[in-house]
Amino acid sequence: MNEKYKIDNLSITRREFIGVSSIAALFLATGCFYTKAMAEYPDTFQPLPYGENDLEPVISGRTLSFHYGKHHKGYINNLNKLIMNTEFTGKSLEEIIISTANRPDKTAIFNNAAQTWNHTFYWHSLTPGGGGEPPAGLKKRMESSFGSVEACRKEMANAATTQFGSGWAWLVLDGEKLKVVKTANADVPLTMGMKPLLTIDVWEHAYYLDYQNRRGDYVNAVLDRLINWNFAEQNLG
Ligand code: FE
Repeated sequence: MNEKYKIDNLSITRREFIGVSSIAALFLATGCFYTKAMAEYPDTFQPLPYGENDLEPVISGRTLSFHYGKHHKGYINNLNKLIMNTEFTGKSLEEIIISTANRPDKTAIFNNAAQTWNHTFYWHSLTPGGGGEPPAGLKKRMESSFGSVEACRKEMANAATTQFGSGWAWLVLDGEKLKVVKTANADVPLTMGMKPLLTIDVWEHAYYLDYQNRRGDYVNAVLDRLINWNFAEQNLG
């Protein structure tokens, strides 16, 4: 499969997407489409927004190399094989996710599409030198939804450490309120009408080389030193 196929297959402009289906239109109406920051990065196998060693010592270059170069790339390759010459050829990644969610006959496509999207979103949810004080706009929303920044952080840590098995912890916008949710396997809040602001990958492949069974240590280190609050604020729109 050549690179051009992949790019042509998964890239679609927002304007083109609007005309595709009523589901997509509803999705857009809720604001749950490309976030501002994500729109700058088409939904193909994009370069990482930092070097593979730049998240050390919290996440090693070895972990990032496998996670990005093997796991993430594998999902994209699988997706491209699964949708070649199907109704999904030429559709945007988001539309594929929305239209295959909860369809038992499309589980493989959904899983690979959602995992592709989730990982791109996760890379942008982290940044070297992250953590610390959130920017003013986000801080205000955290305080009104959770009472304090610390309470929000605590809820994110709790969701990430208590997700049973593989999955994701998310900070989302649900209507006017910020919420923390967790999803299993490939599931993504996009399909639940919520707008993702940040995510933490809690599949074992995200941390096992560095932390083994100590998921809590990985989660707390990410929240303290890597989480990209600015990305979350941009996603508020
Ligand atoms: Fe992952």
